[in-house]
Amino acid sequence: MPCFAAGGDHPRQGGSLNDLNSWHEDSIVHELSIAQSLLEIVLEESRKHRMTKVRVIRLQVGELAAVVPDSLMFCFGMISENTVACGAILEIEAVPVVARCSQCQLMFEVENHVFSCPECDVPVMDLVSGRDLSVMSMEGEREESDGAD
Ligand SMILES: [Zn+2]
Repeated sequence: MPCFAAGGDHPRQGGSLNDLNSWHEDSIVHELSIAQSLLEIVLEESRKHRMTKVRVIRLQVGELAAVVPDSLMFCFGMISENTVACGAILEIEAVPVVARCSQCQLMFEVENHVFSCPECDVPVMDLVSGRDLSVMSMEGEREESDGAD
């Protein structure tokens, strides 16, 4: 028997329920990795600002980052135990996807994943915002700095 199918990948047929389940798992892994990079940023910022306790973290999350706020909060709560960010509240603001047309420089909000310029009707790949997650500000407690040099 020829061995041309060495990959052994059977194309999935039907199985919409399976697809849904695996999507769900992928999604949790996605949020977990986002929570980890978020925690790194938060810990670095708190060191810089000599914070001893982080209470509120304000985030902007692009719609294209595909973050489920509840999952992100859950994952962040889990991995931030025993850090200064333990118990911190995440305030998540969704940022619309904004793209810029390379022909007419028009900036427009992308709705329904239609990435084309409303003026020129050409495909646009240049995103101005909406892909990333960024920490806007943090609130918490700082080390008393009197007497420190
Ligand atoms: Zn245009």
